[in-house]
Amino acid sequence: MPTGQYVDKATFLNGCICPTRGWFARNLRHATPPSEADLLRMEEGLEIGRRARLLFPGGVFVPAKESTAAARETARLMADPKVLAIFEATFRVDGYVAKADILLRAKRGWRLLEVKSSINPSQELVDDLAYTARVAKRAGVKIDRASLLLLSGTYKLGDPDSDLFIERDCTGDVADIVGRFETLWDSVAKAALAKKPPAPQLMFACRSCEYFSTHCLGTDTENHIFELPRLSQTAFDRLAQQSVTAIPDIPAGFRLTHPQERVRQAIVTGQPVIAEKELAAFLDRIDWPAFYLDFETVKSSIPLFPGTAPHEQIVTQYSVHLCQAPGKVSGHREFLADASRDCRRELAERLLKDLDGAGHIVVYSSFEKTMLNKLGRLFDDLKPALDRCASRLFDLEKAFRSWFYHPEFHGRTSIKVTLPALVDLSYDGLAIADGDTAVAKYARMARGEIPGDAAGDVRQALLEYCKRDTLAMVKLHERLLKICS
Ligand code: SF4
Repeated sequence: MPTGQYVDKATFLNGCICPTRGWFARNLRHATPPSEADLLRMEEGLEIGRRARLLFPGGVFVPAKESTAAARETARLMADPKVLAIFEATFRVDGYVAKADILLRAKRGWRLLEVKSSINPSQELVDDLAYTARVAKRAGVKIDRASLLLLSGTYKLGDPDSDLFIERDCTGDVADIVGRFETLWDSVAKAALAKKPPAPQLMFACRSCEYFSTHCLGTDTENHIFELPRLSQTAFDRLAQQSVTAIPDIPAGFRLTHPQERVRQAIVTGQPVIAEKELAAFLDRIDWPAFYLDFETVKSSIPLFPGTAPHEQIVTQYSVHLCQAPGKVSGHREFLADASRDCRRELAERLLKDLDGAGHIVVYSSFEKTMLNKLGRLFDDLKPALDRCASRLFDLEKAFRSWFYHPEFHGRTSIKVTLPALVDLSYDGLAIADGDTAVAKYARMARGEIPGDAAGDVRQALLEYCKRDTLAMVKLHERLLKICS
């Protein structure tokens, strides 16, 4: 096999789900540039790897060079009994390549550690570890123990670095998975290294495949059955047996749930499906004036502020549009934290003032309720007032989940989907136009990576983005009321 013709972890694990997906994972990996949020995740991953290696002083790093040379260097270090820890140990065998984050010499072989930025040991992470173990074993390495080195949920910034990680021994699970991998070993590599992608076969896993709508079976099917909300594997299998892939082709009499039937009706008629009476009754519950509220948060693997934990979601910003009547904006209030410190107390106090009154607080999703509850747990003295705010919440998304469906929703009800279908307002032209970018930009400010003037621009963009979210709610609410009147 020529140099460079190898299969790596992402290719193999995708190929286990579907041979076409494995081929795409290997051949399209640079097709889409990483987003701001992807880049931040990658940088955090590198930093976590660096900190994990500090736990094993004296460990030797295998330099990132071409994989055959790195595998040779790894073999040399493993043969040297003075080397007790190897970082990025590289193995190449059967056309596969794997890098072990940390390999420790043990009494009866080697202890393999895969470093992860997560707190919980998901199946996906154990599969990752099992892949590395499988390649290492095939290369002749005796793995004594295989573990995930995860972030500890109890770590708080300010604790010793050694408390940042927690080891989860997965040796038993890994042995089972390695057995399963054996049966796919030759076929996945063959398919992934082929000149052309294997012919795709529609399966339930396509529903969550990242290539579905960009490169594969979703590219030429409008209104695919995957747009049916909560489509079960059983219903999918029955439709697939009848070669039905598009919603309009679902046979009459095929049993769908009520929300699925709503979607089908909208697609077939090309018209919105509205339960007018129920929708009107729902919207009628609003007590005016209404406060339209949206939070933004920051979250990172390595905590940003003293006393906070890995992946802890921290409210950093809010926007409130105040309306005396539908569509009649009488005020706007906002808050954006100083990114150099944890401002939750200040934010919560300002928020209580800005929401002072008796009218409903209109939100979109349950996220704001979760965040209000979280602030209440943090500040005992503010909890009663924050609870009162939570009791005034009115979730506008419920209107779309239950009583209004538009053919352009494509099975979703997020505000980014419902807004352009109903209102002449969008996020186009905003410097920050989605939540992931907002989180990433704030995290970079908090890490001190955005200097002076540029930070001012980012703050302005964050304020505009959050303000657009609450204005979007005002407009959507007004539109729904007009539809019902
Ligand atoms: S969409 Fe389906 S067939 Fe295509 S690559 Fe993904 S899982 Fe495979």
